Amino acid sequence: MSSTRAWRGSRWVTGLLGTLLAVLSGAAVWASWRQTDTVADVVASSTETDAYQQAAYLAAAEMALLQASFWDPAGEARRRIPEVNKQVDDAMARMVAVDDSPDRQRSRVLKQQHLNLGPDIAYYLQQIDRHDQAGARRTLKTVIEPSYSRITSRLIEVQTERLAEATRNQNAARDFSRRLLAGSIVVFVLGLAVLNLFGWSVRAHRRQMTALAAIDALTGLPNRVAFLAAAGLALTETPRAEADGAKAAPPTVLLVNLDGFRAVNDQLGHGIGDRLLIESGRRLAGAVRDDDLVARLGADEFAVLLRGRSDSDEALAARLTTAFDEPFALDDFTVDLEISIGAATAQPGEQVTTLLQHADIALHTAKLDHTGFHRYTSAADDTAAARLSLLGDLRRALDDTGQLILHYQPQIDPADGAITGVEALARWQHPVKGMVSPGDFIPVVENTSLIHRFTDLVLSQALAQARIWHDSGYRLTVAVNISAHSLLDARFCCRVATLLEEAGVPGEMLCIEITESSVMRDPAVAIEALRRIRDLGVRASIDDYGTGYSSMSYLKLLPVNELKIDRSFVCDMATDASSHALVCSAVELGHNLGLTVVAEGVEDAATAEALREVGCDLAQGYHFARPMDAEALTRLLRTEVSRQPA
Ligand code: C2E
Ligand code: CA
Ligand code: CA
Repeated sequence: MSSTRAWRGSRWVTGLLGTLLAVLSGAAVWASWRQTDTVADVVASSTETDAYQQAAYLAAAEMALLQASFWDPAGEARRRIPEVNKQVDDAMARMVAVDDSPDRQRSRVLKQQHLNLGPDIAYYLQQIDRHDQAGARRTLKTVIEPSYSRITSRLIEVQTERLAEATRNQNAARDFSRRLLAGSIVVFVLGLAVLNLFGWSVRAHRRQMTALAAIDALTGLPNRVAFLAAAGLALTETPRAEADGAKAAPPTVLLVNLDGFRAVNDQLGHGIGDRLLIESGRRLAGAVRDDDLVARLGADEFAVLLRGRSDSDEALAARLTTAFDEPFALDDFTVDLEISIGAATAQPGEQVTTLLQHADIALHTAKLDHTGFHRYTSAADDTAAARLSLLGDLRRALDDTGQLILHYQPQIDPADGAITGVEALARWQHPVKGMVSPGDFIPVVENTSLIHRFTDLVLSQALAQARIWHDSGYRLTVAVNISAHSLLDARFCCRVATLLEEAGVPGEMLCIEITESSVMRDPAVAIEALRRIRDLGVRASIDDYGTGYSSMSYLKLLPVNELKIDRSFVCDMATDASSHALVCSAVELGHNLGLTVVAEGVEDAATAEALREVGCDLAQGYHFARPMDAEALTRLLRTEVSRQPA
């Protein structure tokens, strides 16, 4: 904040100095312009002085020639008079031309006075030429000499005056130049100051921008960039403190994730989501000590950097969790949020990215195990890192639909061997690892929000294929495995309805396979979801029956259509009496409840025969067909039709 104030202040001062500089520069330009005028005045007055001086000099010379002619009427002086007289006229004409003083009339008067002397000079010269000595002397003394004295003294007077003015102008010009120089120095210094201030202001602005870039705009907490910088600093400070002899605790990072935030954000809107994030940030910041740093790394992910020695990560995690005990009251909504925390303590020489990766691994473990808090240990590294990389790969696979495909395994009526339906089984063609079994990736995906996108993809692919078979005249039920997370997701039924509509497939052609354990996670929500699914005409099947609770009382309550007996009982029913008994009772129970009973994992003819004997409705297993791609299954359907009697 102080950098903002400094930046604003510097901007203000720069603006003020800039204006002052502009005014002074304007004044300097005006002064320079004025200076040109002054210099022009100096030049003009000097030229005038010169012109007057020259006229005075020539007039004096002319008079001297006239005087000399009296004594030597045939001499050189007498001969030069007309020429010098002309020079005086010319000098006077130039004098008139250059004189631009307010009383320039005087130059004209002087010029005229000289011109008027012309007849007197001519008369005087005639007297000389006639050798009229007395007349010539009289003319010289009474007319010529007084007139020339008047003219020359007047010329000298004016010349002196102009010279004084020229000197004055020169002095003024010099003063002005001095002031101009001083002004230019001031403008130059001020310019330097403004430039410096401007540079400082730009740097302050850049500092402010950097500060802003390090703050998360929504919560006002430091963002990922700032957190990484602070964690990096803490990592470098620990060895330094140890070198100084202090026993320094290595920094610990706690990654905090808001469980279920995405669902709230999607259902209640981003406005509520944002407020939830702001309030969460506040609660987290309120639960840490002054030494520790809370940051928002992105979306609903926060992080705490534990720098002090006074707190253990577990104690802090407990305080952070407690901070979320109180529900969030937002307008008309009350939202309960829990958090998952993954903690990792820096090992000697560890980089920030590794520390964060470890905390991330711990966070995933906390989420998968539903423990709320997990501390990273290097033993967990391998499996957790593999899990993480698998999730990253799957995220990319979901964008590139070519990698995730479905195989279909037929479900057979044991009485006549007819294919009545198929189970869709996901296959992941990993670009590097090759085929990844669903048993390897589904348990990992199931506990992340990726499962929703995955279920969507499987459903839409299965329904598109069902539509193709339907259009080709095969009326098959397509069974799709649905994870607990998807079934319990509030949007699940709407998604199923939308996807059915998009594919143009009637609800009865779809069967969802769910396990007992996923229903037991939240029976009320599951039963409600199954009811809404049934309203769409979609069938539901209890998968892996026999491995879970298998309680009669709740089975009665479940709105399902089918029981699918787990293959662990089916595969050895032909040889193991207790498995045989279990399959028998499951068939009986299913029929009593009005359910279709399916047996999976039929691997041989003996088992198929035993199932027919106990009256099982449908059978599925390698004995009939392995899961295969849609094309292979279509070929199988064709041969089956051609086998049937016309
Ligand atoms: P599941 O639902 O119990 O699927 C049946 C599994 O048994 C399939 O394994 C199938 O290939 C296998 N199987 C079929 N017949 C026989 C047989 O005669 N003998 C033996 N030993 N096995 C047989 P798969 O395809 O590896 O799937 C494994 C599990 O992955 C599935 O068990 C299901 O829980 C899950 N899964 C598969 N696809 C999806 C899916 O799209 N969504 C979800 N949520 N789960 C899926
Ligand atoms: Ca299944
Ligand atoms: Ca099964």
